[in-house]
Amino acid sequence: MSRRGLLIIISGPSGSGKGTLVAKLLESEPNMVVSVSATTREPRPGEIEGKSYYFLSKDKFLELVKSGRMLEYAEYIGNYYGTPLEPVEAWLNEGKDVILEIEVQGALQVKEKMPKAVTIFVMPSSMDVVRQRLIGRGTEAAEVVKERLMKAEEELVFMDKYDYVVRKDELDEVVNEVKSIINKERHKNGEVQG
Ligand code: 5GP
Repeated sequence: MSRRGLLIIISGPSGSGKGTLVAKLLESEPNMVVSVSATTREPRPGEIEGKSYYFLSKDKFLELVKSGRMLEYAEYIGNYYGTPLEPVEAWLNEGKDVILEIEVQGALQVKEKMPKAVTIFVMPSSMDVVRQRLIGRGTEAAEVVKERLMKAEEELVFMDKYDYVVRKDELDEVVNEVKSIINKERHKNGEVQG
């Protein structure tokens, strides 16, 4: 039997460094891919259709949900976000490890459907660091930053439901810890994952 890939779910507040973490993991792990989500939010400057997200209208998004083509979806500050099911299944069957970088409600939906998924919550040492990073990023209006910070506080409540919590400020340390979690999980059930 060939090895089924590992499904790795990474969540954490905006400004937790998730995006950079995922980029670093992909650089060093040739057998790993990241799922491209669908969203109804507006693209940010520099974001690319089909790479950053699939940017969809609300009608189109809900049509995909209705036809069962989303592994999970959630509403986050007035917009929908969801994971297209088919590519994830295909990659796992090919033996690739798949990363989902999604928020807490979606993460918990996936964990229920696929209990072998590994859930990791990343979070800097304090909300102050989150605030500074979000302001420093400069991609969102003050009002949006405020909403995202409130959302981050809400999400912390769900931290306990994750298999692992990585709480560090230095990105290199976050990357190393997540890598060692992934290695441990790969070996947990021998070579065969289901
Ligand atoms: P952003 O607007 O900053 O790109 O993403 C907002 C939040 O939505 C982040 O917490 C991000 O992880 C989450 N997110 C991105 N894609 C998905 C998805 O497919 N499903 C769910 N549930 N959350 C997602």
